[in-house]
Amino acid sequence: MIDEIVVASKNKGKIKEIRNILSGTDIKVVSMEEVGFNEDIEETGKTFYENALIKAGAIYDKTKSVVLSDDSGLEVEYLDNAPGVYSARFAQNDDARIEKLLGLLQNVPENKRKARFVCSMVLYINEQYYVSAEGTVDGYIATDRNGSKGFGYDPVFYLPEYHKTMAEVSENVKNKISHRAKALEQIVQKIKELNV
Ligand code: IMP
Repeated sequence: MIDEIVVASKNKGKIKEIRNILSGTDIKVVSMEEVGFNEDIEETGKTFYENALIKAGAIYDKTKSVVLSDDSGLEVEYLDNAPGVYSARFAQNDDARIEKLLGLLQNVPENKRKARFVCSMVLYINEQYYVSAEGTVDGYIATDRNGSKGFGYDPVFYLPEYHKTMAEVSENVKNKISHRAKALEQIVQKIKELNV
């Protein structure tokens, strides 16, 4: 049975979420820095899945540990699904990224502000073997920022069924409904079924 996984990310928000989502299992979550991997991995893929696989493979090759890799981002319908795989590279920091997004959607009416978070996840077990899953969550891009929880685009990602942004709902709620939670749920299910 897998008892430890290395998370292929330097994003503290993501690592914290993954740790919380897996807190009910016996799997210990460690960061890539904790196993001595500090290199930057170039995300050259055209899809979330390609990038997740690139990151997982690079860390597995160096550490020979079981690696959980997540590539995620925001797709905005009105922007032809941009920023997509470029979500992290859309601007210098979270604040500038949100500013740019709100600018591009200025005067765009509510019914055209549909968006979704996508997460592609790969659990790289060894050279021959990996499992993958995808999770999404639907919402709208708000006209203003609200809330201070979460990270990234959360303050402008509006969840109609909660009447709140992703940065306003509790950690527990985000960790149940998020794209990452949904992908991870499937990965956990797959490793249970495979009995690895
Ligand atoms: P990655 O590290 O290449 O997967 O980049 C993911 C980027 O997408 C992050 O830097 C965020 O800007 C955005 N993102 C991914 N997941 C979330 C989320 O749960 N909330 C807000 N932004 C997210």
